[in-house]
Formats: sequence, C-alpha cells, structure tokens
Amino acid sequence: MFILQANIINFNSIKIKVISLPNFAIEKLTVLNGTNSLAVKNYSITEDSILLETERNINIKNPCTLLYDGNPSICSYLQLYKSQEFNNKYFTNEALGCFYYKNYTTFKVWSPPASLVTLLLYSTGDSLEAPRAIEMNENNGLWNVSVQGDLKGFYYTYEVVILNEKHEAVDPYAKAVGINGLRAAIINMDETTPADFYNIPAPKIKNYTDAILYEVSIRDITGSKTSGVKNRGKYLGLAEENTFSPDGLPTGLNHIKELGITHVQLMPIFDFSYMSVDEKNSEKYNWGYDPQNLNAPEGSYSTNPYNPTCRIYELKELIKTLHKNGLCVVMDMVYNHVYHNTENSFEKIFPGYYFRYDNSGKRSDGSGCGNDIASEQPMAAKFIVDSVLYWVNEYNLDGLRFDLMGLLDVNTMNKVREALNSLRRPLMLYGEGWYMNTELSEDLKANMFNSYKLPSIGHFNDSIRDGVKGSVFSKEDKGFISGKQGQEETIKKCITGFINYSEKYKGLFITPSQSVNYVSAHDNNTLWDKLQCSNPQDNFEDKKSMHKLANAVVLMSQGIPFLHSGVEFCRTKNGIENSYNSPDEINNINWLRKAEFYDVFNYYKGLINIRKQHAAFRFPNAEGVKAHLSFIENVPNNVIAFTLSGYANNDSWDNILVIFNANRSNVKLNIPFAKWNVTTDKYIAGTETLRILETDSVEVEGLSFNLFHN
Ligand code: CA
Repeated sequence: MFILQANIINFNSIKIKVISLPNFAIEKLTVLNGTNSLAVKNYSITEDSILLETERNINIKNPCTLLYDGNPSICSYLQLYKSQEFNNKYFTNEALGCFYYKNYTTFKVWSPPASLVTLLLYSTGDSLEAPRAIEMNENNGLWNVSVQGDLKGFYYTYEVVILNEKHEAVDPYAKAVGINGLRAAIINMDETTPADFYNIPAPKIKNYTDAILYEVSIRDITGSKTSGVKNRGKYLGLAEENTFSPDGLPTGLNHIKELGITHVQLMPIFDFSYMSVDEKNSEKYNWGYDPQNLNAPEGSYSTNPYNPTCRIYELKELIKTLHKNGLCVVMDMVYNHVYHNTENSFEKIFPGYYFRYDNSGKRSDGSGCGNDIASEQPMAAKFIVDSVLYWVNEYNLDGLRFDLMGLLDVNTMNKVREALNSLRRPLMLYGEGWYMNTELSEDLKANMFNSYKLPSIGHFNDSIRDGVKGSVFSKEDKGFISGKQGQEETIKKCITGFINYSEKYKGLFITPSQSVNYVSAHDNNTLWDKLQCSNPQDNFEDKKSMHKLANAVVLMSQGIPFLHSGVEFCRTKNGIENSYNSPDEINNINWLRKAEFYDVFNYYKGLINIRKQHAAFRFPNAEGVKAHLSFIENVPNNVIAFTLSGYANNDSWDNILVIFNANRSNVKLNIPFAKWNVTTDKYIAGTETLRILETDSVEVEGLSFNLFHN
C-alpha cells in the first residue's frame, strides 16, 4: 500500500488517501504523535481512502506521522485547523497585541500549535544584539506575559516553536514598528497624537452617495518638484496647505480643496514590505500593495522611519489637516494577501491557519500573489474586524476601501460593516468586488454578484469603467465616449446606479450606494493614456472632449463617483499600465499639466460642483431613482438623455435634463417642451444659467455633456 496523503480531519481522526487498497493490513500501521504511538480505535475503508479513529486525541503540538510497513508519511494538520471543532475549541475574543502601561507591558499572541513562545526584547529596530528573552504562558492557545518596568522605547518580536520549527515573528497586531517593519515597537500611543486630533470633526455626509472619492498616493501627489511642496512624497507633504506649481496654480491639498471633492482615498499607508520599498533608502518605487504590518503605518512616507512614533504622528497630522480643510479620509486596505508566502507574521505564528488551500494542500492563488488570506477562518476574520476598528478609531478615519474584496467572504465583510455601524458615524466601506478564482464556495465570495448579501458595501463598477471608455484588458478597445457603437444600454444601467431599474435596465445592486462609479484608477492606463491607445487618429481637442465627457457620465450617474487623482488635468503615466514599480517620473503627478489642461480642470471642477449642489444625482435608494429618473427614448445613436424630475431627492431644481452626445458631430433631438435654463455645454460645466431655451427640440454639439433645468 502506498499512502498519497494523510490528513488529520478532527482531533481523533485521520483520513488517508491510498493506492492499492486491497493489500491494506491494519497491523502494519502505526500512528506516531511526537514520540507517542496512538492506538487506533476504529477504521473504515471507502473507495480510495481509509478513515482512522484514534483512541486518544492527537496532540496538535507534536508532529503526527503514519508508519506503514516501516515507511513514514507525515500527516497534515491543515484540514483540522479549518474545522469547526478546532475553531470552537481555540477561538478567543481576547484583545491581542501589546498593551503598554508606565509600570508594565502586557503581550498577547494566539498560537494553539506552538509548544513554546518567547518574547524577545530589543533596544533598537534592527541591530544585531542578543535580545532579552522572556518565556510566555499559555492558556488554550493564547500566549501572554506581563513584563514589569517601563518598556517604552524597546522593540519586540515573538519566537515561536511549532512542530520542532522555530520562527521569529513580528506581532501581527503591532501598532508601531521600527525601521523597515522588522520589529514591533513599544511606545506610548498618547505621544503619537497631535493636539486636538480627535476634536476636529470630519465633515459629515448624510448618505454615502454624497461622497466624491479621489484616489491619492502619498508619494505621487507631492513627489514631483512641480508640486512646490517641501516634504515631497511624505505624509506631511500632503498636509502643506498653501502650495503652488511653477505656474502659480494650487497644488497638493490646496488643489484638492479647489477641485471640491469630499473624500481623499489614500493608497496603501499601512506598512508595506521593505522588499518593495526600503525605508532606509526609498529610491525604489512601489505602490505598496504588499502588506507587511497591517496595523502600523508605512515608514517611507514619514520624515524619520527609524522613530516608530514619528510615522504615526505624521500620518495623524495629515488626517487632522485634511479634516480641518473639510475633507474626509478613506484608507485603502489589503487584507486579501500578504507580501511574502512564508516570511509573514501570520504564517510564522500559526503556519497554515490564515491561508486558503486547495484539496491537494496547495495554496489558493486568486490574488496572483501566491497566498489568499482565509478570511473565513474565525481568527482571521477577527483580525480583519479588529484591524478595521483600530484604524478607524485610532486614526479617526472616515472609511475603508478593500483591495480585491472578492477574495474575502461575505460574512467577514458584513462583520466589518456591523462593526463600523456600531461607531454611529457615516463610515464608507467599499471594495473591489471582482469575481476571483479562490478556494471559497461561490455563495460566500464577497463579490458584486453576491452584492445582495452585502447591503451598504460598495463595489467598483467595471461596467461603467469599460462601457464608457473601453475595456482595460484591451488597449485599443473603445467605449461610449470614444466611438464604440451600441454602448447606450450599458451606460444607462450605470446611470441608474446599476440597480434593478426596469426589465430593460437591470443592474446587480440593491441600492445606488453599492455602485462606485469610475473610469480610471491607479491600475491600468490613465484615462488620457487610454485615449491615446484607443483613439490615436483623433485630434487633441476631441480627446479632451472625450475625456471630459467620460467623467461627466461618472459624476451625473447615481451611485458614488470616484476619480483618479490628476485625471482632472489629463494625468499621464506615459502609457505604462501597470506602473506599480515604475519610477517616480512615471507615477508622480506632474503639476505643470494643470496649466496646460486648465480648461479640462475647470470643467471637472464644474462637474463636481453640479453634483454637490444637486441632490437629484445622489439618491441613496433605488426607489427614488425609479420614481424620478426617466430616459428619453428615440434619440439618435450614441446619445443618452434623461430627466430627473419632481424636485428629485429634494433638489432645488424641479426638472433636470441631461444629454450626453458621444457622436463627433452635432445631433438634434426632441425633449420635453419647457423653458429650459442651460447651465452646462461642451465648454462650460456649472450651475449658473448660460442661456435660456424655450423649445421641444434641441441641437447639441458633438462629444458634449449638456445640462438643462427648470
Ligand atoms: Ca515599510
């Protein structure tokens, strides 16, 4: 008999997959658990496997090996770790991490399979020195120790022994870390908080659909010399209030305020891997979707990454400044994978528990990074919920964006939503609800196809993204704005907030606030670069018109609009789609473009102003959209026209008429007869009346957005 696989499936059962069953003889089999042999109480044989029941429970702190005819096979604990039995026995709701007090510090870490956990105390963040070692005590998988004295200024790691292997790990709950995140730091959190930090309230939005999201990278927004910022590429750089480009135009925070958005969404600000960006010399660029310490801020954005307090203080200083300037702050979190398969805290502290595997024991890889976090595991879910609450409370954040949310499970996402709701302030929660190929049953995946199970959680809407300007998977593909025919139905569905609007226009969502509407983000080509790829034959002015039209659709659609920073002056990455590790010259925002594309900037500013002034575009629920939004049928091809009528969503305007003409030439169309105030045309976007038309038909220019009201 040849043993293919032996899996421990609960505390006293082992399932063995074998070849050539007929020869099986139980007397040739020994179950070794450490140095003890476990008697087999029962066994049953099915088609290609044998199920063994041991008399005594298996001790999970020791390796388990089968000897058949003297040939050893190591039993895998993976299935046991995933079992309900295991989780029922070991789950703990205790607060984990390091708890500093002036006279003592307590440490708590969870690792049921560990046979020994030692706290190692160091005096610096990365020096070679013999640490002070303190053995921790175990209570049903929870290891803890309290160390007397004032430990402020020390650094710590855990040395964990599991199945005869020893690993040194950073506490996954570390709130503060030293240089490059290699050791957790013991600090007094009170010293990380700028004066009045918690007293400056974030601006409050009533509904999530009132938000206008703006995606910013700390490094890119002020990295260029053209930003006129002193602390370029740092947290403090975006906190500089009155900065200007060489043309004398507002940059950085000054610019964001001028533009009028409501929420700044910060790309990774948690500590990402030193292998992506070395905090000692941060010349190498990386976006930072490489989690290392999920509860501590990234060091390369601080002015002194060696000082664990500094990065926290400076990030808080930024958040405080953004709040003071009327801006909410959303952080981009990556809970779906970690940077390194084996060199990560979760795996070192409890190998196998926090990741998904297929039936053969291979890591699930929906993320493309070789490791999908098993968010459905109760202690992984606890980590995610704890982490979200920690950031939101400690850093006074206004929401979270979940990277590759489709890899996580609906139950954990709903727990996150509930936890945020319990804080009783409007906290945004949305993510990339893509369909992902991960080892999780379809009904549990937190993707947009299961969005009905995820009320109050938003999804990036790829229908509007690709429908408006062409697929991100084909450079040349065009969309509604750039000359592709037959996109009207897709765009109309998106205009409704992708709800179940009618038989003809049926989206996936139960409310518009589940639809995060966008055409470009940090991934893929910028909108401007996409137009260079899809429409090389079009002239400069037409491309600008298409560009303006694209985000006019986004900003006039029901749902939550999202803008990629710099799009308002036609940001370029020189045609580099996946610029995650391209140099600063590619990724940094070039502020000279603001003057160059000032007409586009003004138009975007006008679009934002329209949306902010007019609640008709911001229905919080599907019923309102269905009752007040009507499409005008029988319009020319590549034209979409709709009305929002009856003081929609308590708007100050009675009737609003929107016309998008994606044709290059003028079109004429019939509209409801009325005396219409024209506030927006191809050149000017806003709420002031440009001219008045009393008519039942109108001619609009090619590649234009037009807004009328009465
Ligand atoms: Ca780092």
